[in-house]
Amino acid sequence: MRSKIVAGNWKMNTLVSEGVELASSINRFFSDNKLAPNVKIILGVPFTHIDACVKSVDYTKISVAAQNCSQYEKGAYTGEVAVDMIKSLGAQYIIVGHSERRQIFGETDAIIAQKLANCHKNAIFPILCCGETADERDDGSYFDVVKNQLIASLCLTDQFNILRTVVAYEPVWAIGTGKTASPDQAQEMHKYIRKIIAEIFTQNIADQISILYGGSVKPDNAVELFSQDDIDGGLIGGASLKKEDFIKIYQAI
Ligand code: PEP
Repeated sequence: MRSKIVAGNWKMNTLVSEGVELASSINRFFSDNKLAPNVKIILGVPFTHIDACVKSVDYTKISVAAQNCSQYEKGAYTGEVAVDMIKSLGAQYIIVGHSERRQIFGETDAIIAQKLANCHKNAIFPILCCGETADERDDGSYFDVVKNQLIASLCLTDQFNILRTVVAYEPVWAIGTGKTASPDQAQEMHKYIRKIIAEIFTQNIADQISILYGGSVKPDNAVELFSQDDIDGGLIGGASLKKEDFIKIYQAI
């Protein structure tokens, strides 16, 4: 059975003290309430917060993710953070290829493929983001765009490691805009992503991969999105910064 996942992406928000308070309050909720079976909670925090957040949560219920990593393993890359450094702090996941990294920092699929390979080499789970822009949705090329992103970014990933990868479909036009893909639009793309993974790997593998939806998920749209057959949870930006909203979104799964 595929895992259900509710993952937060705090982006570049909160001071360390505020992040620890947020992680601790989410942790308190899961100390008082049983985590639903087969559901994983992940907090995607800034690099500076990883150590303190890992120490603030019960790792059997809540995992911590980094939001990026270097494509390089070590060396003269000023300002970069390697996967094994992230792993050494106790993070278990890394968000890779977020559209903000692609658009603002010029990350290509080739770079993303290398980052995935580094994650797999270090036994850390990447959350691979893909998704089309508004123009690509409007001109009808969105299936091809997502297919090409998946083929190119998974070119260094083998059958063993794809099973240690989470995919997040995040239409760029829905991220931080308040516009959400309709449940039908999201389901249509998630089903297509599973088909592409089956073509690259096998149907059996595709059936085991968790595919998350991201793009303005809120407590009032989460139930309908998460009830779709191929939507296995969400990658949540803005709403993950409010404990109450994040918990309500978890309760929708
Ligand atoms: C994101 O940043 O991954 C995201 C989905 O953001 P938001 O939920 O704010 O649209």
